[in-house]
Amino acid sequence: MRVELNPDLCQGHNRCYALAPELFDVDDYGTAVVIGEGSVAADLEGKARLAVDNCPEYAITITQDT
Ligand code: SF4
Repeated sequence: MRVELNPDLCQGHNRCYALAPELFDVDDYGTAVVIGEGSVAADLEGKARLAVDNCPEYAITITQDT
């Protein structure tokens, strides 16, 4: 699993960072960024889904590694 974040949609609520700091960080402008390549370890998949469900801007998407 991989998380992707659309910076054009992100409004900087930082809910994703609050819910899953292992997967998201915040840049100097308050916009969220994915950490590294966005790869999600198996034990963090629940947090990744939580972040998607709690982003009010629908800026986060999950893709499955093929
Ligand atoms: S919750 Fe969504 S809108 Fe808010 S900082 Fe995270 S990605 Fe951006």
